[in-house]
Amino acid sequence: MSAKVRLYVDQPLGAGQSVPLSRDQAHYLFGVMRLTVGASVSVFNGKDGEWLTEVAEAGKRAGLLTCQTQTKPLQLPPDLWFLFAPIKKARTDFIVEKAAEMGAARILPVQTEFTNSERIRQDRLQAHAVEAAEQCGGTYVPEVAALERLDRLLDTWPAGRQLMFCDEAEVGSALSLAAREKGQPWAILIGPEGGFSDRERSRLTGLPFAHVVSLGPRILRADTAAVAAMTLWQQALGDWA
Ligand code: SAH
Repeated sequence: MSAKVRLYVDQPLGAGQSVPLSRDQAHYLFGVMRLTVGASVSVFNGKDGEWLTEVAEAGKRAGLLTCQTQTKPLQLPPDLWFLFAPIKKARTDFIVEKAAEMGAARILPVQTEFTNSERIRQDRLQAHAVEAAEQCGGTYVPEVAALERLDRLLDTWPAGRQLMFCDEAEVGSALSLAAREKGQPWAILIGPEGGFSDRERSRLTGLPFAHVVSLGPRILRADTAAVAAMTLWQQALGDWA
Protein backbone atom coordinates (compact mmCIF):
# COMPACT_ATOMS: atom_id res chain seq x y z
CA MET A 1 0.00 0.00 0.00
CA SER A 2 1.23 3.50 -0.78
CA ALA A 3 -0.06 6.67 0.83
CA LYS A 4 -1.66 9.40 -1.28
CA VAL A 5 1.18 11.81 -0.64
CA ARG A 6 4.57 10.79 -2.03
CA LEU A 7 7.71 12.61 -1.08
CA TYR A 8 11.38 12.44 -1.99
CA VAL A 9 13.62 12.80 1.07
CA ASP A 10 17.36 13.09 1.33
CA GLN A 11 17.59 10.83 4.40
CA PRO A 12 18.32 7.15 5.02
CA LEU A 13 15.21 4.94 5.18
CA GLY A 14 14.72 1.69 7.09
CA ALA A 15 12.38 0.06 9.62
CA GLY A 16 11.77 2.39 12.57
CA GLN A 17 13.96 5.11 11.07
CA SER A 18 13.02 8.72 11.89
CA VAL A 19 12.97 11.11 8.97
CA PRO A 20 13.31 14.79 9.88
CA LEU A 21 11.59 17.14 7.45
CA SER A 22 12.92 20.35 5.96
CA ARG A 23 10.99 23.58 6.26
CA ASP A 24 9.66 23.26 2.70
CA GLN A 25 8.60 19.66 3.21
CA ALA A 26 6.84 20.52 6.48
CA HIS A 27 5.08 23.40 4.75
CA TYR A 28 3.97 21.12 1.91
CA LEU A 29 2.74 18.24 4.10
CA PHE A 30 1.14 20.20 6.92
CA GLY A 31 0.37 23.59 5.37
CA VAL A 32 -0.64 22.61 1.83
CA MET A 33 -1.76 18.98 2.16
CA ARG A 34 -3.11 19.54 5.70
CA LEU A 35 -1.77 16.27 7.08
CA THR A 36 -1.73 15.81 10.84
CA VAL A 37 0.03 13.47 13.30
CA GLY A 38 -0.75 9.85 12.45
CA ALA A 39 -1.23 10.45 8.71
CA SER A 40 0.54 8.23 6.17
CA VAL A 41 3.16 9.49 3.72
CA SER A 42 5.09 7.45 1.15
CA VAL A 43 8.74 8.40 0.92
CA PHE A 44 11.74 7.38 -1.18
CA ASN A 45 15.31 8.59 -1.30
CA GLY A 46 16.55 7.10 -4.55
CA LYS A 47 18.48 4.36 -2.72
CA ASP A 48 16.34 2.44 -0.24
CA GLY A 49 13.11 1.86 -2.17
CA GLU A 50 9.76 3.29 -1.08
CA TRP A 51 8.64 3.32 2.54
CA LEU A 52 5.33 3.91 4.19
CA THR A 53 5.79 6.39 7.01
CA GLU A 54 3.60 7.93 9.68
CA VAL A 55 3.67 11.55 10.71
CA ALA A 56 5.12 11.64 14.24
CA GLU A 57 5.47 15.41 14.60
CA ALA A 58 3.80 18.10 12.52
CA GLY A 59 4.93 21.70 12.89
CA LYS A 60 4.78 24.78 10.69
CA ARG A 61 8.48 24.78 9.96
CA ALA A 62 9.56 21.26 10.86
CA GLY A 63 8.28 17.76 11.38
CA LEU A 64 9.18 14.12 11.73
CA LEU A 65 8.11 10.97 9.93
CA THR A 66 8.63 7.43 11.19
CA CYS A 67 9.30 4.63 8.69
CA GLN A 68 7.02 1.62 9.01
CA THR A 69 7.30 -0.86 6.15
CA GLN A 70 8.96 -0.94 2.77
CA THR A 71 6.29 -0.71 0.07
CA LYS A 72 8.56 -0.97 -3.01
CA PRO A 73 12.10 -2.13 -3.53
CA LEU A 74 14.54 0.20 -5.27
CA GLN A 75 13.97 -0.06 -9.00
CA LEU A 76 16.87 1.32 -10.99
CA PRO A 77 16.23 2.50 -14.56
CA PRO A 78 18.27 1.06 -17.44
CA ASP A 79 21.74 2.56 -17.88
CA LEU A 80 20.54 5.28 -20.22
CA TRP A 81 21.96 8.80 -20.33
CA PHE A 82 19.81 11.47 -21.87
CA LEU A 83 21.76 14.29 -23.57
CA PHE A 84 19.94 17.35 -24.81
CA ALA A 85 20.72 20.93 -25.73
CA PRO A 86 18.77 23.28 -23.44
CA ILE A 87 16.13 25.37 -25.22
CA LYS A 88 13.64 27.86 -23.82
CA LYS A 89 12.97 27.58 -20.10
CA ALA A 90 9.53 25.96 -20.12
CA ARG A 91 10.49 23.46 -22.82
CA THR A 92 13.73 22.59 -21.02
CA ASP A 93 11.74 21.96 -17.85
CA PHE A 94 9.41 19.74 -19.86
CA ILE A 95 12.31 17.76 -21.33
CA VAL A 96 13.83 17.10 -17.89
CA GLU A 97 10.47 16.08 -16.46
CA LYS A 98 9.81 13.68 -19.37
CA ALA A 99 13.31 12.20 -19.26
CA ALA A 100 12.84 11.41 -15.56
CA GLU A 101 9.41 9.87 -16.17
CA MET A 102 10.59 7.86 -19.15
CA GLY A 103 13.38 6.25 -17.14
CA ALA A 104 16.65 8.03 -17.87
CA ALA A 105 19.38 7.18 -15.39
CA ARG A 106 21.21 10.52 -15.89
CA ILE A 107 20.23 13.75 -17.58
CA LEU A 108 23.04 15.70 -19.22
CA PRO A 109 22.40 19.18 -20.62
CA VAL A 110 24.93 19.78 -23.40
CA GLN A 111 26.00 22.95 -25.14
CA THR A 112 26.16 22.51 -28.89
CA GLU A 113 27.16 25.07 -31.50
CA PHE A 114 23.60 26.23 -32.03
CA THR A 115 22.48 26.04 -28.39
CA ASN A 116 20.79 29.29 -27.46
CA SER A 117 21.35 29.23 -23.72
CA GLU A 118 24.74 29.33 -22.12
CA ARG A 119 23.51 28.74 -18.62
CA ILE A 120 21.03 26.47 -16.95
CA ARG A 121 19.56 26.45 -13.47
CA GLN A 122 20.84 23.05 -12.49
CA ASP A 123 19.10 23.12 -9.09
CA ARG A 124 15.74 23.98 -10.68
CA LEU A 125 16.10 21.23 -13.25
CA GLN A 126 17.06 18.77 -10.52
CA ALA A 127 13.94 19.80 -8.58
CA HIS A 128 11.86 19.03 -11.71
CA ALA A 129 13.41 15.55 -11.89
CA VAL A 130 12.54 14.99 -8.21
CA GLU A 131 8.95 16.11 -8.77
CA ALA A 132 8.62 13.84 -11.78
CA ALA A 133 9.84 10.86 -9.74
CA GLU A 134 7.37 11.73 -6.94
CA GLN A 135 4.58 11.87 -9.51
CA CYS A 136 5.30 8.74 -11.50
CA GLY A 137 5.84 6.34 -8.61
CA GLY A 138 9.55 5.97 -9.30
CA THR A 139 11.98 5.06 -6.56
CA TYR A 140 14.99 6.56 -8.34
CA VAL A 141 15.84 10.16 -9.20
CA PRO A 142 18.12 10.79 -12.18
CA GLU A 143 20.93 13.25 -11.55
CA VAL A 144 20.82 16.39 -13.68
CA ALA A 145 24.46 17.09 -14.56
CA ALA A 146 26.00 20.53 -15.02
CA LEU A 147 25.90 21.99 -18.53
CA GLU A 148 28.87 20.72 -20.51
CA ARG A 149 30.06 21.33 -24.04
CA LEU A 150 29.16 18.47 -26.33
CA ASP A 151 32.64 18.27 -27.84
CA ARG A 152 34.22 18.00 -24.37
CA LEU A 153 31.81 15.28 -23.38
CA LEU A 154 32.63 13.38 -26.56
CA ASP A 155 36.38 13.78 -25.85
CA THR A 156 35.96 11.89 -22.58
CA TRP A 157 33.21 9.49 -23.69
CA PRO A 158 33.16 6.33 -21.53
CA ALA A 159 34.26 3.14 -23.27
CA GLY A 160 31.41 0.81 -24.14
CA ARG A 161 28.58 3.37 -24.03
CA GLN A 162 26.61 3.54 -27.28
CA LEU A 163 25.12 6.81 -28.50
CA MET A 164 21.81 7.13 -30.31
CA PHE A 165 22.37 10.31 -32.31
CA CYS A 166 18.99 11.71 -33.34
CA ASP A 167 19.65 13.65 -36.51
CA GLU A 168 16.90 15.58 -38.21
CA ALA A 169 18.89 15.47 -41.48
CA GLU A 170 18.80 11.69 -41.53
CA VAL A 171 15.24 11.46 -42.83
CA GLY A 172 14.37 7.97 -43.89
CA SER A 173 17.02 5.79 -42.32
CA ALA A 174 16.26 4.18 -39.02
CA LEU A 175 18.63 2.27 -36.82
CA SER A 176 17.24 -1.06 -35.84
CA LEU A 177 17.62 -0.94 -32.11
CA ALA A 178 15.88 -4.30 -31.86
CA ALA A 179 18.96 -6.00 -33.33
CA ARG A 180 21.17 -4.75 -30.51
CA GLU A 181 21.99 -6.56 -27.33
CA LYS A 182 20.04 -5.50 -24.24
CA GLY A 183 21.62 -4.40 -20.97
CA GLN A 184 24.36 -2.26 -22.54
CA PRO A 185 25.05 1.34 -21.48
CA TRP A 186 23.51 3.82 -23.92
CA ALA A 187 22.93 7.51 -24.36
CA ILE A 188 20.44 9.47 -26.47
CA LEU A 189 21.39 12.82 -28.00
CA ILE A 190 18.81 15.42 -29.03
CA GLY A 191 19.90 18.69 -30.61
CA PRO A 192 18.69 22.27 -30.09
CA GLU A 193 16.05 24.16 -32.11
CA GLY A 194 18.79 25.12 -34.55
CA GLY A 195 19.78 21.50 -35.09
CA PHE A 196 23.38 20.30 -35.40
CA SER A 197 26.17 22.10 -37.26
CA ASP A 198 27.92 20.36 -40.17
CA ARG A 199 31.03 20.08 -38.03
CA GLU A 200 29.14 18.38 -35.22
CA ARG A 201 27.35 16.10 -37.64
CA SER A 202 30.54 14.96 -39.31
CA ARG A 203 32.26 14.35 -35.98
CA LEU A 204 29.32 12.42 -34.60
CA THR A 205 28.86 10.25 -37.67
CA GLY A 206 32.56 9.34 -37.55
CA LEU A 207 32.47 8.08 -33.96
CA PRO A 208 32.46 4.28 -33.65
CA PHE A 209 30.00 4.31 -30.74
CA ALA A 210 27.51 6.70 -32.37
CA HIS A 211 24.49 5.42 -34.31
CA VAL A 212 22.50 7.86 -36.42
CA VAL A 213 18.76 7.57 -35.95
CA SER A 214 15.85 9.14 -37.77
CA LEU A 215 12.64 9.92 -35.90
CA GLY A 216 10.59 9.96 -39.08
CA PRO A 217 10.08 12.26 -42.04
CA ARG A 218 8.83 15.26 -40.05
CA ILE A 219 11.09 17.58 -38.11
CA LEU A 220 10.06 17.38 -34.48
CA ARG A 221 10.57 20.03 -31.89
CA ALA A 222 13.31 19.09 -29.47
CA ASP A 223 10.84 18.32 -26.66
CA THR A 224 8.78 16.07 -28.92
CA ALA A 225 11.93 14.40 -30.24
CA ALA A 226 13.05 13.73 -26.65
CA VAL A 227 9.92 11.74 -25.83
CA ALA A 228 9.88 9.96 -29.21
CA ALA A 229 13.53 8.90 -28.92
CA MET A 230 13.13 7.60 -25.38
CA THR A 231 10.01 5.68 -26.40
CA LEU A 232 11.89 3.95 -29.23
CA TRP A 233 14.84 3.12 -27.04
CA GLN A 234 12.79 1.92 -24.07
CA GLN A 235 10.63 -0.24 -26.26
CA ALA A 236 13.60 -1.95 -27.92
CA LEU A 237 16.28 -2.03 -25.22
CA GLY A 238 14.87 -0.69 -21.98
CA ASP A 239 12.74 -1.90 -19.08
CA TRP A 240 9.33 -1.82 -20.75
CA ALA A 241 9.27 -5.47 -21.59
N1 SAH B 1 16.27 23.37 -36.79
C1 SAH B 1 16.45 22.02 -37.20
C2 SAH B 1 15.56 21.08 -36.41
C3 SAH B 1 15.98 20.80 -35.02
S1 SAH B 1 14.84 19.81 -34.21
C4 SAH B 1 16.08 21.91 -38.65
O1 SAH B 1 15.21 22.65 -39.06
O2 SAH B 1 16.65 21.06 -39.31
C5 SAH B 1 15.63 19.54 -32.66
C6 SAH B 1 16.28 18.18 -32.48
O3 SAH B 1 15.29 17.16 -32.44
C7 SAH B 1 17.20 17.74 -33.59
O4 SAH B 1 18.50 18.27 -33.48
C8 SAH B 1 17.20 16.22 -33.46
O5 SAH B 1 18.06 15.78 -32.44
C9 SAH B 1 15.77 15.96 -33.04
N2 SAH B 1 14.90 15.66 -34.20
C10 SAH B 1 13.83 16.35 -34.62
N3 SAH B 1 13.23 15.76 -35.67
C11 SAH B 1 13.95 14.65 -35.92
C12 SAH B 1 13.82 13.59 -36.89
N4 SAH B 1 12.86 13.56 -37.79
N5 SAH B 1 14.75 12.60 -36.84
C13 SAH B 1 15.75 12.60 -35.93
N6 SAH B 1 15.90 13.57 -35.01
C14 SAH B 1 15.02 14.57 -34.99
